[in-house]
Amino acid sequence: MADLDPRRSILIAGGGGFIGGWMVAEALRQGFAYVRSVDIKPTEEWYQVHADADNLVLDLGNPDSCRRAVRGIDYVINLAADMGGMGFIEAHRARCMISVLINTNLLCAAKDVGVSRYFYASSACVYNIDKQRDADVTPLKEADAYPAMPEDGYGWEKLFSERMCRHFLEDFGVQTRVARYHNVYGPLGTWDGGREKAPAAICRKIAAAKLSGNHAIEIWGDGEQTRTFMYIDDCVHGTLMLTASDFAEPLNIGSAELVTINQMVDVVESVAGIKVKRNYNLDAPKGVRGRSSDNALIQRTFGWEPKISLRTGLEKTYRWIYDQMVAASRLPEVAKT
Ligand code: NAD
Repeated sequence: MADLDPRRSILIAGGGGFIGGWMVAEALRQGFAYVRSVDIKPTEEWYQVHADADNLVLDLGNPDSCRRAVRGIDYVINLAADMGGMGFIEAHRARCMISVLINTNLLCAAKDVGVSRYFYASSACVYNIDKQRDADVTPLKEADAYPAMPEDGYGWEKLFSERMCRHFLEDFGVQTRVARYHNVYGPLGTWDGGREKAPAAICRKIAAAKLSGNHAIEIWGDGEQTRTFMYIDDCVHGTLMLTASDFAEPLNIGSAELVTINQMVDVVESVAGIKVKRNYNLDAPKGVRGRSSDNALIQRTFGWEPKISLRTGLEKTYRWIYDQMVAASRLPEVAKT
């Protein structure tokens, strides 16, 4: 299967974010002729700033900024969105929906310059919530997004943007590719402040317990909700593989290794070498009851599935978050949560 041609230029939109930072690193490692990384945040707040990339601070909700961002670009990887974990997206539905401006303006600009590929990062949050009410899940296959009843706010924006990509391909010939990511995690991503997702939040809470000696943590819900989690390296490789391919339908990129939140806590406890008392907050945001990725289509089409186990990925993530907390001396602040 052909890869993207590294003699060409690539834009990573949202390059100051978690997945974007790793995507820029991989594009540079693969030796792309020109790598442009764009984010709305000041570079001091980017998770990774790669000196060999052209790093620009632009608001991609703005059409002029999008035109600037795609100038001279062959491949667009759109990872820019105003988003976070369940706590953030349930409390900021309108802000999540405003991300529609990013994909809309970037797609229009990409059409005008005639890019070769345009990748859009969609989400498992597009899936019909009625198919996710049981912790004993039936894995979600791509067709389960319809009839549409996605996660309110964030999921609707993702589903709309997916369809916009589809119609830009059908009507304008823009070679759009769409992945539905399922819970991506790893180092150099959000781990506190309210946008963090479950793996980072659990690593942070257990690291705080270890550092403080107060071996008790809060868990959102009863901990029996099920999910799958994909390590960042698998996400980056799956994304570039899909972008290079001829496959133009939305595709799950996620792990099929299903765990309850309690089981994930077991793994992080074992990595940290402590046991914690679990206080369940049944009023906290919980998201759907059960969700797993059906990987039949990606296996059939690409012979691909994620390689990195949850245990291996959580070891790397926990170590990084633990080191961040020690380095930043943030313990008194985070131990309270
Ligand atoms: P992230 O929040 O770390 O990165 C997103 C980046 O987009 C941020 O750095 C943010 O500053 C930037 N951004 C926001 N608004 C912008 C604007 N107007 N102009 C320019 N940049 C802007 O998130 P992430 O985890 O790296 O996610 C990347 C993409 O993948 C997003 O589209 C997200 O919805 C999608 N996704 C992520 C996950 C996951 O588990 N991380 C799961 C499903 C889908």
